[in-house]
Amino acid sequence: MNFRGKLVIFSGPSGAGKTSIVKTLLNKYPELFGFSISATTRSMRANEVNGKDYYFIPVDVFKEKIKNDEFIEWEEVYEGLFYGTLKSEVESWHALNRHILFDIDVKGGLNIKKKFPDITLSIFVMPPSIEDLEKRLNERKTENEETLKKRINKVQWEISMSSLFDIVVINNDLNAAIEKAEEAVVNFLKE
Ligand code: 5GP
Repeated sequence: MNFRGKLVIFSGPSGAGKTSIVKTLLNKYPELFGFSISATTRSMRANEVNGKDYYFIPVDVFKEKIKNDEFIEWEEVYEGLFYGTLKSEVESWHALNRHILFDIDVKGGLNIKKKFPDITLSIFVMPPSIEDLEKRLNERKTENEETLKKRINKVQWEISMSSLFDIVVINNDLNAAIEKAEEAVVNFLKE
């Protein structure tokens, strides 16, 4: 793919604040960035919109797309739950000359960085502590006991991968984290 824009990856544990940071950047720079809407097989949350937050699709459709080579990357992020970046999504932002923001898991983020090393900035969003993350996930009330457990079980491993990212933003305070991420992204776009 011959891409003129840049790719900015936000990865890190569920509940660390990636989505809030990405949404702020999209609102602040609506003409600069596009958001890579992923496909997923998980069910839609009450506050989510199909085609805006994700493309919610059944697992057989997802598997068909894997077979047809429609993904740049995909992962079974949690057991039985598939998430993937569609080539068509990246191509449509490309056609509009936008830089692209990704909210994807650690493996997917590192895969994109490996595929497009020169045009990708990878950012790991770090929670201040695992206890704090657990508290945030509980307060968010988007998970049931089982899905909450799956997310918490993965955190140690995710944090152990943080050193492979270009930068780590610690989310002690959301506004400060947004500021740090914004500064890194703006500098990267100037390169
Ligand atoms: P959630 O279910 O909380 O929306 O997302 C769960 C995890 O899947 C998050 O870490 C999120 O960043 C990741 N994710 C979302 N979309 C993609 C994608 O297209 N590919 C990969 N590899 N991970 C994704």
